[in-house]
Amino acid sequence: MTYVITSPCVGVKDASCVDVCPVDCIHPTKDEADFATVDMLFINPDECIDCGACEPACPVAAIFEESAVPAADKQYIQINAQRFA
Ligand code: SF4
Ligand code: SF4
Repeated sequence: MTYVITSPCVGVKDASCVDVCPVDCIHPTKDEADFATVDMLFINPDECIDCGACEPACPVAAIFEESAVPAADKQYIQINAQRFA
């Protein structure tokens, strides 16, 4: 399983989640070239260790464990994964 970033992140991307992730699997970081152009951040499902640290760090409650992603945002499971495909 993995955690997933969903629609509330769009246009916010304050990157609080990046700072708390122990395995640095949330991208792009502020140091990466495309940080300025993306609408939101993404979690690499192959690297996420399911620790849950990012969920409470998000000020807009955009992060959910995969099985808990709200029905209206289920497509974000694929959207996060595609970033790293
Ligand atoms: S903390 Fe929330 S709003 Fe900020 S980048 Fe992470 S998921 Fe997006
Ligand atoms: S659940 Fe843990 S490992 Fe996965 S993205 Fe969040 S902080 Fe990183």
